[in-house]
Amino acid sequence: MSKATEDRIEIHPGDITKLDVDAIVNAANAQLRPGGGVCGAIHRAAGRNLREACAKIGGCKTGDAVATDGYELKAKFVIHTVGPVWHGGKQNEDGLLASCYRTSLKIAKQIGARSVAFPAISTGVYAFPLERATQIAVATVRDFLAEDEAIDKVVFCTFGAEAEAAYRKELGR
Ligand code: ADP
Repeated sequence: MSKATEDRIEIHPGDITKLDVDAIVNAANAQLRPGGGVCGAIHRAAGRNLREACAKIGGCKTGDAVATDGYELKAKFVIHTVGPVWHGGKQNEDGLLASCYRTSLKIAKQIGARSVAFPAISTGVYAFPLERATQIAVATVRDFLAEDEAIDKVVFCTFGAEAEAAYRKELGR
């Protein structure tokens, strides 16, 4: 029998670049440049080959995702997804954020990654309200896992007490 959806979801407080999972997701920018925040940290940890791989791809649309190798990371792959910038909620930010999680998991399945870690996409510089983003992240991941057995484990990597509390509340843990 397959493992229940809830047993395949974990919260991990800390730095996503340290995680030993098949794929980590990057909250990337549309140009796929190193930038700051979690994206800058991932690029620093993965090394210059990641920057070159991203430059070769050239860019990614909001709500979409692309995969590269993980280079110097423990993770074999990085899935780069571009979250929406928060403009008040009337520009399909919710739909685009859900698409980031869904598309990243679809790509993980395509490349054979069975364990995937997500940061709290769009909740930093892109200013998406944390609680609302957390609800979308958890609901979208739950739906995907319930429909599809390709992914064994999804880790929500929380950076800071506020994000950890939001995920614990949403997951009821
Ligand atoms: P965005 O531009 O999508 O808002 P940010 O990188 O600014 O992306 O922030 C996204 C989330 O990633 C924020 O919740 C931030 O606290 C978190 N974050 C920053 N650095 C790390 C890291 N090393 N590991 C995990 N999460 C991180």
